[in-house]
Amino acid sequence: MDLGRSNFDLGDVGFTVSSKKEPAHKQCPFCNGDKVIIGADGQTATCPKCSGKGYSNDWDAGYNLVTRIEGPLTITGITLEIVSPDKMTFWGSQKGRGLIYRVKGYSDGKTNHIIEESRMLPSKEAAEVEEARIIKKG
Ligand SMILES: [Zn+2]
Repeated sequence: MDLGRSNFDLGDVGFTVSSKKEPAHKQCPFCNGDKVIIGADGQTATCPKCSGKGYSNDWDAGYNLVTRIEGPLTITGITLEIVSPDKMTFWGSQKGRGLIYRVKGYSDGKTNHIIEESRMLPSKEAAEVEEARIIKKG
């Protein structure tokens, strides 16, 4: 780990790829995906089976990998964080995290995202290459 310099500076702009696994969905059979049901009096009400989502999680179908390119992200903070391996989380995300960037510009509007140096990419094109690699890996 090079502690001497970061690839990005404060105010620089970069991109990253967010990825997560979400349960597969199946259409709600009670409302046929319409999100509402129609009563005998013709009035509509939010479907009680799917809470108005129109779908439910299909645990038998497993998970779908959902990826999204985030950016342009503006770097608002740079932190060197060293975590001992025994502080590792279940997901391994804490392991010797090294240089991390605090950014703004995330699609959810939150400003508390931190991105590890290895996941901060210099261009949208680089992020597209990384996204394709993540999808291929599955
Ligand atoms: Zn429903």
